[in-house]
Amino acid sequence: MMTDIHIIGGGLAGSEAAWQLAEAGHKVRLSEMRGSGEMTPAHETDALAEMVCSNSFRSDDANSNAVGLLHQEMRRLGSLILREADRVRVPAGSALAVDRTLFAEGVTRAITGHPNITLVRERIDALPESGPTIIATGPLTAMTLAQDIAGTTGSDALAFFDAIAPIIHIDSIDMDICWKASRWDKGSPEGDGRDYINCPMDREQYEAFVAGLRTGDKTEFKQWEKDTPYFDGCMPIEVMADRGLETLRFGPMKPVGLDNPRTGRWPYAVVQLRQDNALGTLWNMVGFQTKLKHAAQVELFRTIPGLANAQFARLGGLHRNTFIRSPVLLDGEFRLKARPHIRFAGQITGCEGYVESAAVGLLVGLFAGAELDGRSIAPPPGDTALGALLSHITGGADAESYQPMNVNFGLFPPMPDDVRKKQRKQGYTDRGRASFGGWLDQIGVRDAIVAA
Ligand SMILES: Cc1cc2nc3c(=O)[nH]c(=O)nc-3n(C[C@H](O)[C@H](O)[C@H](O)COP(=O)(O)OP(=O)(O)OC[C@H]3O[C@@H](n4cnc5c(N)ncnc54)[C@H](O)[C@@H]3O)c2cc1C
Repeated sequence: MMTDIHIIGGGLAGSEAAWQLAEAGHKVRLSEMRGSGEMTPAHETDALAEMVCSNSFRSDDANSNAVGLLHQEMRRLGSLILREADRVRVPAGSALAVDRTLFAEGVTRAITGHPNITLVRERIDALPESGPTIIATGPLTAMTLAQDIAGTTGSDALAFFDAIAPIIHIDSIDMDICWKASRWDKGSPEGDGRDYINCPMDREQYEAFVAGLRTGDKTEFKQWEKDTPYFDGCMPIEVMADRGLETLRFGPMKPVGLDNPRTGRWPYAVVQLRQDNALGTLWNMVGFQTKLKHAAQVELFRTIPGLANAQFARLGGLHRNTFIRSPVLLDGEFRLKARPHIRFAGQITGCEGYVESAAVGLLVGLFAGAELDGRSIAPPPGDTALGALLSHITGGADAESYQPMNVNFGLFPPMPDDVRKKQRKQGYTDRGRASFGGWLDQIGVRDAIVAA
């Protein structure tokens, strides 16, 4: 098949961009190296859009949360990633969490079954010299291509660390010690109101655990890795433990709102597990990303009450995460200024997170599709979640201190001073929704939620 556009990387962003272009009638070649004998340090399968760590797309609340608003905007634009996520969601309070295997299988099926997409399992080692191209190779871009990108952009690619949390088989968890509950009993509509497994700790157990984290055997960094920062939302637990004895109790081990049915009280600290697959057989340790060595993880995590016999489906790990200096390198449509036939999409642009990566893939797909049709579309307004992300990546952020960021209301234009603090979140989302509707009309795209 003759193709109109080449997309490199079949992750969250590349799959979404391919879908948007193909649905608009364009012929797409999608190159994905997994499945050709290549693998990244974090992926485990050949499936497209594999979620490498958590199984959560975070909050689905479109009234008070920026990422929830982003979900809604993506649904309105007919996002493949959100469609498949909605299809295989698992209980997780107000979060959109999914069965990661069914999710990736669903995306792969949709992409391989689309008549306008040719999926080629191949590794690309250089930026194509000509022809419309989208680079969506993610934070773990294969080294040769990463070096070519660094050479072409004339600046070193930047980097930070992202970590992975362990996953446990449910039948190895002692439910005589643990119990199921959501914080403040706020469950999701999909579940029974008791979405998390909670492992309680008393003070002595907690302090011993923190000490174990501080002294546990850790993976050593190479010299070049030592100055690389962590992404704040994904800080390893042992790094948090080093910051102070109480840090974890005010972070991922927070006990508030979790009544232990055996004592009628909140425990001193808690380790929470979240369902990881639709069958409910696998549960991940919430906020427990770590760079402890595997043997040290098994030894220490089995000291957690209820996990003495835990069997781990996967242990935690830490990976380098690469991105480009987008605010200076890209134009307002994610084109590389120096070589405008090339666009970048996904985490490599310096957004952070599954949802944001897919969202940027979606937007890049729309921009590239319009260009193939010989027209251009207005960017989404800055008070929408998509527009806020776009502005941050391609212009809003200071190029020197540019760091990956999740979507958040801090990227939106501020609310007028007379909007009361309590009403601000709703204010942001109401304003964004109205603006987004106007933008859809302006660019002539039908609202997929209204149409459904
Ligand atoms: C270790 C780690 C943990 C993370 N944990 C989370 C998390 O829990 N939650 C969250 O929201 N985000 C997380 N992220 C951040 C980010 O959201 C994900 O990495 C997300 O998958 C990024 O989407 P993407 O499409 O940009 O890249 P990816 O999903 O990684 O897709 C890129 C694809 O390109 C392919 N590829 C790479 N180089 C080449 C090449 N030269 N030729 C052909 N194909 C190539 C890869 O095989 C991959 O399939 C994590 C990132 C890392 C590195």
